[in-house]
Amino acid sequence: MIPRCVYVNGRYVHYGAARVHVEDRGFQFGDAVYEVCAIRAGRLLDLDAHLARLDRSLAALRIAPPLGPQPLRHVLREVVQRNLVRDGLLYLQVSRGVAEREHAFPDPAVSPTLVIFARPMNMEHLDARAATGISVHTSPDIRWARRDIKTTGLLGNVLGKQSAREAGASEVWFVDGQGYVTEGGSTNAWIVDRRGVLRTRELSQDILPGITRETLLSVIHDSSLEFAEVPFTVREAQEAQEAFNTSALSFVTPVTTIDGVRLKGPQPGLVAMGLRQSYLNRVDSV
Ligand code: PMP
Repeated sequence: MIPRCVYVNGRYVHYGAARVHVEDRGFQFGDAVYEVCAIRAGRLLDLDAHLARLDRSLAALRIAPPLGPQPLRHVLREVVQRNLVRDGLLYLQVSRGVAEREHAFPDPAVSPTLVIFARPMNMEHLDARAATGISVHTSPDIRWARRDIKTTGLLGNVLGKQSAREAGASEVWFVDGQGYVTEGGSTNAWIVDRRGVLRTRELSQDILPGITRETLLSVIHDSSLEFAEVPFTVREAQEAQEAFNTSALSFVTPVTTIDGVRLKGPQPGLVAMGLRQSYLNRVDSV
């Protein structure tokens, strides 16, 4: 599963030899943004949307894009090909760069650090997880107030995911001060409520605008499913007909248990499994 080579600041280097500086601002401050894209049959899924979100994250933090759009696409394809990845993931990170430690931006600006790698993923394992469904553990959302920016400052997510693991669950769902689910530790959260309405939280600074969420919305738009961007409580989710998560790597994954409460009715739910298939048929691949 170890990548053969990693792209670091203009060079393709052996994985074991890939390095960034100790004073990289990504390392010291989490002053960095990232993207994760799925690779299927050697193709990058929803790449345009991921690159558009990368641009928005960079602009929000006023980090200059390290490469123009075409050179970047070329490097992404090279990384996939050089690592011979057919099914897997691509990870890209841009930090503000290397500078003597001081919180405010370096002045004059320094070149951003760009790191890209790709590695294979076991698709059968992911499909099997979807077929049985996963359990979720809830936790207060202690993250910062700009979760719409995809930064590497993921300590809240790290602690949340660990609490889920220790509770025997495979994903955390964060809960806001009013008792509503924001999103998962690395996924967007959805339910099919008791009335049969498909629900997920509306976009705001509280959640990451998931690319899978966006693609799935276009699938839903073309379907006869009743849908509302309305948040839900943990209790509503436990009483829902179905629940599921979306992310670039897990696509649509049914949730069958929330804080130890198993959802009633046949699980994994038909809506979630149907949407998983429709998503895979719809997703763009280049
Ligand atoms: N929320 C969070 C906190 C995430 O880390 C992710 C994964 N990037 C998502 C939602 C899902 O986003 P996407 O569909 O773009 O993978």
